[in-house]
Amino acid sequence: MRQEAVPILAIVVPCYNEAIGLQHSIDKLLLHVESMAQRAVVSANSFVCCVDDGSRDKTWEVISAAVANGMKVTGVRLSSNCGHQVALYAGLVDVAGRCDIALSIDADLQQDPGAIPRFVEAWRAGAEVVFGVRRDRASDSWLKRTTAAAYYKLMRIAGLDLLPNSADYRLVGAKALSALSEHPEQSPYLRALFRQIGFQTATVSFDVVKREFGTSKYTVRKMVKLAVSSVISYSTFPLKLITWVGASISVTAFLMAGYALVRTLIVGDTTPGWASTVLPIYMLGGVQLLFLGIIGEYVGQLVVEVKRRPRYIIEEKIG
Ligand code: UDP
Ligand code: MG
Repeated sequence: MRQEAVPILAIVVPCYNEAIGLQHSIDKLLLHVESMAQRAVVSANSFVCCVDDGSRDKTWEVISAAVANGMKVTGVRLSSNCGHQVALYAGLVDVAGRCDIALSIDADLQQDPGAIPRFVEAWRAGAEVVFGVRRDRASDSWLKRTTAAAYYKLMRIAGLDLLPNSADYRLVGAKALSALSEHPEQSPYLRALFRQIGFQTATVSFDVVKREFGTSKYTVRKMVKLAVSSVISYSTFPLKLITWVGASISVTAFLMAGYALVRTLIVGDTTPGWASTVLPIYMLGGVQLLFLGIIGEYVGQLVVEVKRRPRYIIEEKIG
């Protein structure tokens, strides 16, 4: 049990083209903060930090207006669309040092904000990282459900320790926040990162509702990109797979060669065959290309990491 004073809570909201409903979401979040502050669950200095992930609509205007109206809101504007994970990372780094606990939630509030007090409670009880775990996926489309299930299965095979159905609805303490800044990787994958850094953890289950406004900003392309980069950045399993498949194919090839030799020497009935010449070419050619591709992914990642370019560029900060 933590004895600290009432903690300052920062709610980090990554926003990409969320102008339509963002004000409504901010209002709702601030209402929750206010009611928690009244019950002395969190400090009255708690605030919402909106990260504009290079939106092309009026998202930044909405955030600026909220700040100008004196609401407990701060804004960070990235100079281009860097993706949900990077935006979230930028927000968490921005609030670190200004809060005692930081909660991340999507701008559409599909994740029930009513669960926030339970996150704080779990932190009070000693957890440094509190993962939100969704109760069911009934509100998701068939495509989202199927791809999500396949995704977690793939991650398990790749040796990635993820909590299934734990979206980026999560509360972290100051220690976990400062650990975050020690991870300078280019494609942060926060779900895995916060599992990796240790500390005492807890889970809070929450309900997911349908998106009230706007459409999903996670295109299939973005989802595939996330899946590939999370495996590449957190697992060397594909590289090991290459070794194993390569080794098995080599052993098989040697056995086949031995068999052919023995047969020629003892039985002597070999007919120069088309299949034995052409098939291995295709087979090995295919396998080699596939694995070159996997190695290429890692090399590509290395190139990106080695450059140490900034992950994001902050165009403006307010509040
Ligand atoms: N998001 C973002 N950058 C992107 C895509 C999404 O910051 O490139 C934000 C988006 O504004 C939202 C959150 O990530 O706050 C989750 O996106 P969304 O609700 O569209 O995803 P879904 O719920 O469909 O998985
Ligand atoms: Mg959503």
